Amino acid sequence: MKHQQYETWILLGTELDLEQHRELQVHLKQCSQCQSLYQATHQIAHLFKTSPVPEPSPGFSTRCMTRIEKVETRKSQFILGMTLSVISLATLLLLSSVGLQIRAGMAQFPQLMLEMITLVAKWIVFLNQLSHIVSPLIRVSLKLISPIWLITLGFSLSGITIAWMIPFFKSRTIQRELHS
Ligand SMILES: [Zn+2]
Repeated sequence: MKHQQYETWILLGTELDLEQHRELQVHLKQCSQCQSLYQATHQIAHLFKTSPVPEPSPGFSTRCMTRIEKVETRKSQFILGMTLSVISLATLLLLSSVGLQIRAGMAQFPQLMLEMITLVAKWIVFLNQLSHIVSPLIRVSLKLISPIWLITLGFSLSGITIAWMIPFFKSRTIQRELHS
């Protein structure tokens, strides 16, 4: 039989009868090319059979916990971000409403906008700095406090902000009226 036939048998893993098997074994002894091919295919088959099912490594539970903690951190960061956004938005809304109350003329409008933007930017910088201090605290306390409480805290904080901002702007309005 031709060399190619044996090669096909080896590559396809054809089921051989006793006679064919004996034939192949005889050929393998003579043909180094088929022998190496036979060995290679058997090694691959062996590898597939013996390669173990991936089992959880010793550090698996630890890594799993780390992943859970990462998710929790992201969650707390999201809640913090939400809180800060609520505060910023409340501040922005307040500023714009105060801005309307001031009824600054169109000439003063660009300056007012600039002042507002500067103030908001300052607030954002301040809140950002605050978040660096607060976020580790929140991260720890998040395990004890539910997110609803944090959102409530966020709203009350913005309430405090508004309460604090109103007299400040009233005094500013008065000052402006006095100056003009
Ligand atoms: Zn051969």
